[in-house]
Amino acid sequence: MEYFKNKVDYLRDYCKENGFSDDTKEGKVFMAFADVLDDMSELLDGILEQFGNDEENEEATYEYAFICPECGEEIEVSQEVFEEEEEICCPKCGNMIPVCATDFSDEDFE
Ligand SMILES: [Zn+2]
Repeated sequence: MEYFKNKVDYLRDYCKENGFSDDTKEGKVFMAFADVLDDMSELLDGILEQFGNDEENEEATYEYAFICPECGEEIEVSQEVFEEEEEICCPKCGNMIPVCATDFSDEDFE
């Protein structure tokens, strides 16, 4: 994700090419702006990257959610855990929850 960074680099070069290099008074101001934009682009790229990863992880890893009957904590597990484990351990209270018995989604319709 280099989009914003490239834009700022372009702006910096553009200023220099047009006589606003950083040994002129105007150039110093432009370069200071470019530095701020640099920081912002880095921050923004970081946020966008993190946001993208979160979304990816959630889709790929967590496919089932359980509510712990002891403490009410919501526990997310992957399909792999759901299929292979008979019990999952609540990270909050340590209660062992049987994976099959907590399939409460059908109960509401009976
Ligand atoms: Zn619990």
